[in-house]
Amino acid sequence: MPDLAQAREKMVERQIAARGIHDAPLLDAMRAVPREEFIPHHLIEFAYEDSPLPIEADQTISQPYIVALMIEAAGVAPGDKVLEIGAGSGYAAAIMGKVADHVVSIERHHELAALAAERMRRLGYANVRIVEGDGTEGCPAEAPFDAIIAAASGPSVPDILKAQLKIGGRLVMPLGEPHSVQTLVKVTRRGEDDYDMENLGGVRFVPLIGAYGWQDHRAETAPKTLPQMIADAAEPLPNFDHPDFSALFDRYADAKVILLGEASHGTSEFYKARAAISRRLIERHGFNIVAVEADWPDAATIDRYVRRRPARRGEERAFQRFPTWMWRNTDVDDFIRWLRTHNDGRVPEDKVSFRGLDLYNMNGSIRAVIGYLEDVDPEAAQLARERYNCLMPYSRNPAAYGAMAITEGYARCEDEVVRMLKELQQSRAEYVGIDDGDEFLDAAANARLVKNAEAYYRVMYRGAAESWNLRDTHMFETLCQLLDAKGPDAKAIVWAHNSHIGNAAATEMGVVREELNIGQLCREKFGKQAVLLGFGTHSGTVAAADDWDAPMKVKTVRPALGGSYEDMSHKAGLSRFLLDLRGLGAELKAALDEPRLQRFIGVIYRPETERWSHYSEAVMPRQFDGWVWFDETNAVKPLPGEQKPGEDETYPFGL
Ligand code: SAH
Repeated sequence: MPDLAQAREKMVERQIAARGIHDAPLLDAMRAVPREEFIPHHLIEFAYEDSPLPIEADQTISQPYIVALMIEAAGVAPGDKVLEIGAGSGYAAAIMGKVADHVVSIERHHELAALAAERMRRLGYANVRIVEGDGTEGCPAEAPFDAIIAAASGPSVPDILKAQLKIGGRLVMPLGEPHSVQTLVKVTRRGEDDYDMENLGGVRFVPLIGAYGWQDHRAETAPKTLPQMIADAAEPLPNFDHPDFSALFDRYADAKVILLGEASHGTSEFYKARAAISRRLIERHGFNIVAVEADWPDAATIDRYVRRRPARRGEERAFQRFPTWMWRNTDVDDFIRWLRTHNDGRVPEDKVSFRGLDLYNMNGSIRAVIGYLEDVDPEAAQLARERYNCLMPYSRNPAAYGAMAITEGYARCEDEVVRMLKELQQSRAEYVGIDDGDEFLDAAANARLVKNAEAYYRVMYRGAAESWNLRDTHMFETLCQLLDAKGPDAKAIVWAHNSHIGNAAATEMGVVREELNIGQLCREKFGKQAVLLGFGTHSGTVAAADDWDAPMKVKTVRPALGGSYEDMSHKAGLSRFLLDLRGLGAELKAALDEPRLQRFIGVIYRPETERWSHYSEAVMPRQFDGWVWFDETNAVKPLPGEQKPGEDETYPFGL
């Protein structure tokens, strides 16, 4: 049995106080009332979880935070007389009994009213009276009240209840349809016929059923749809800069590798979310590598900036080639500036590095290897130049290399690039003494990249699956080498597209096309120590091109296709949420655990052919450990062309 007193204390700190509830008598009451006494026995281990729980008569006990929020909003204070509608378990009534002088709480279900009354007796809450009946009519016999709280959602605030408030009294209740997102409102009685109404935000409650509530009793018993179940399990996400946003991801922080996805390469919210989560993982949980789906030599330029290492001779500005907006955008810019500040004042071993896993900038890597050798071994630099020359005729059009390899029947440059890598690795001992090992690591990664890129362009001609697998294997191996180089305390955050991160074995990619990806390889190597998070959206705008190498446009994202995971998430009715796929209830897990369409927008978006070019099937609970949802999203903003005046000349996004 867990230590419940300790769990209660933690609940008050983390779920209530940390979210901004500061009312001292209320916090004391929450510390005192044993929630475990108000729930069915078999759920006791969940008594202090941050969620509502099922109770008898198909009803729920509210999430502790919601109880606190409503009581604080209603301004319940010592000396008050309070009316509650919907006693349910009696938990909220007991809390109010600790704060106020007198509480009347009405419950329409006989079974619940009897249980709650018995609890009040047993636990000694003598000032709480449980009444069986229809609470929408209030309790005229005991009116007026200082505060009235309804724990069930009705169509409107009944006048008969408003009339039972004292002048200055407050009523808090949810309004809206059953099983959808409702609005919590607060009504204050200013004078005899003068009421103010305030909106306190989105909530979800069971229906208020009665003379002045909903009439239809079936509202309570209709089976839930998938969107309703998603809505029940989803945890709403606050703004990016609110500490609660990233704190929701603490549950994943024990992992060795956390992979943060995206459903497009051009959506601002995905980048902002990843930045916020990464900042927290770095500041609080010891993550020390950020590895992104970007070219190694370009990311190396950023890495030098964030760790204040000197630039390499002749180094180009980062991410000058298509698709520039994927990394040259204001959200990435904010993050790398933050990372630089975070690193400042830390010893080199403690600085967080920024790395690229991808292999498209072969020329950049060739230049980097030669540049490195020029410093440490000019003779080897000359040899490298000659060997890499083999690839030069194709540098502008690497696909032509693949075509040539097919027609000639052999790989003209393969031996050269493999030898280059081997010899560089063999010279390790000799070269490493010259600097701190960081430069060698960079050069070796570049030489490995050239070797893999040579193979990539060659097989690209033969088949998409083969080149895809080569690319993702390269990304995975690069990640493993980064982890190895950092030693046993290494912890990495990966930013890449959902198609790279969601376990390919659980999608059409793996099942139909035999494609694997970095998410799957991480799952196989690290097991639960790899956390795969997918990000999705319903509609809005996205930065993308019509074709490869075509200019960026801001395009409208079509509303999600009916029946897709996106459609189900949209219909859940929450604007942004985290769905923790590791802790799903059995019913929701079963409902999600069948193939559905999922949308993948890359750097190219073709809304006209969306179903065929951008959707494919996946089984989400096997694909991801969590699903992060932003219902409406916006295109990233590319960085302006000019350098800001006075910008540090090491700034990697300059021109
Ligand atoms: N405050 C409760 C939450 C109860 S859930 C707790 O802390 O556990 C809402 C309750 O409202 C349900 O038990 C439901 O049966 C009850 N309810 C719905 N309509 C009602 C009405 N018209 N009068 C009284 N209770 C009602």
